[in-house]
Amino acid sequence: MSTTTTGPMGYDEALEAYEPVLGLETHVELGTASKMFCGCSTTFGGEPNTQVCPVCLGLPGALPVANAAAIEYTIKIGLALNCSIAEWCRFARKNYFYPDMPKNFQISQYDEPLCFDGYLDVEIDGRTVRVEIERVHLEEDTGKSLHVGGSTGRIHGADYSLVDYNRAGIPLVEIVTKPIVGTDRLAPEVARAYVTELRELVRAIGASDVRMEEGSLRCDVNVSLMPRGSSEWGTRSETKNVNSLRSVERAVRSEISRQAGVLAAGGRVVQETRHFHEDTGETTSGRSKEEAQDYRYFPEPDLVPIAPDRAWVDRLRTELPEPPSVRRRRLQAEWGLSDLDMAAMHNAGAIELVEATIAAGAPAADARKWWMGELARRANEQAVELVELPVTPAQVARVAQLVASGSLNDKLARQVLEGVLAGEGEPDKVVEARGLAIVSDDGALGDVVDQVIADNPDVADKIRGGKVAAAGALVGAVMKATRGQADAGRARELILERLGVS
Ligand SMILES: [Zn+2]
Repeated sequence: MSTTTTGPMGYDEALEAYEPVLGLETHVELGTASKMFCGCSTTFGGEPNTQVCPVCLGLPGALPVANAAAIEYTIKIGLALNCSIAEWCRFARKNYFYPDMPKNFQISQYDEPLCFDGYLDVEIDGRTVRVEIERVHLEEDTGKSLHVGGSTGRIHGADYSLVDYNRAGIPLVEIVTKPIVGTDRLAPEVARAYVTELRELVRAIGASDVRMEEGSLRCDVNVSLMPRGSSEWGTRSETKNVNSLRSVERAVRSEISRQAGVLAAGGRVVQETRHFHEDTGETTSGRSKEEAQDYRYFPEPDLVPIAPDRAWVDRLRTELPEPPSVRRRRLQAEWGLSDLDMAAMHNAGAIELVEATIAAGAPAADARKWWMGELARRANEQAVELVELPVTPAQVARVAQLVASGSLNDKLARQVLEGVLAGEGEPDKVVEARGLAIVSDDGALGDVVDQVIADNPDVADKIRGGKVAAAGALVGAVMKATRGQADAGRARELILERLGVS
């Protein structure tokens, strides 16, 4: 519901008139083997409703027991985000009806989060922006609805809906920032950089696989606008479940333009949830947003409070991994890269991929070249993240090895990668199936050289007469005859040998 029909305002114009205020709520599905309050498996992709029990189905009389590993991961995330850890806190019941939530309430945390008051520093254009963390709390995920018959997979227009409770009860950590102010025109980039950094940090801890495309990391993006010169915050919208880094950035940008258009036309921004659409890059209205009091929170009576022992918290602190920003500086030094090159790799989400490619046997320069060159180009073309491309670091490393050993040149290697991305199998299989190996054995290459000499008697005579530079034309002809697959250096040697000038 919008109170005006005026369209969005241009981004630059919007920022001249208004200052954006951001808030980010990130849900991370923890990678525990079992669910938050029962022993059911958390494996992704199982047959619907095969990973359920009386507890996660909310059957009468079933009693929850908290998963210690989930609490441990949450404390580690809190510590890595420089939070204070509660000495004593409780779970709370959040009451609302959702078809994919069988208990009709969600066990969450309300006024007593496990971790609170932290921060995460992110770097944008060489500038450090401190994003303050309000809270990190633990809750359970809902199930999943599948709407059948509609054109978009949404409930509108669907013939019927199915519910899968496999996800119901999977431990979920919610990380909520304080309002982020002062980012101005960098607001979209700050939002993206924050989620990127948070994702790396959670991955480094090993608390989750943080795969946005599978929904194990989901982000709600809150945006409001404040007229320049005013200190009164505007009404915020909440764009739900944005599921890629690129979309986080686009959703912020789109909301700034949309809200500025509404405000400039004298309308008011409605407090509501919104959906982001990948295809148009715009958000549309969802439902009007509930207030906390609508949920009738109360302390969960079926669970004992959590009182983390200080010695345990101290031990968890010593187990934290190297912070991602420190790790990046170390890798930058190891790889000998400039700040600019490293920042580009970080922004492209290429660091882990390059690192894994090197670990799989590729030289650092080659690993970086393929991910930041050819593969980045393809990801960009398809508007996907690098990590979403259907090629593994091991496959890229194999291609790099084939180039290093002289079996492929760069042009052929690009074709091999194209085949891998098209689902034609491992690099060696693509080389064979497409006949892409460089022709360097003297038998096959020698035949082509003989043919080229026979076809170009004038050039051959010049070379025989001492004009060695003319050999270039014959090498070119050999390359053409082999569709670029000849070893050019060896071809030149053979030509000179055959013509008696080597
Ligand atoms: Zn269960």
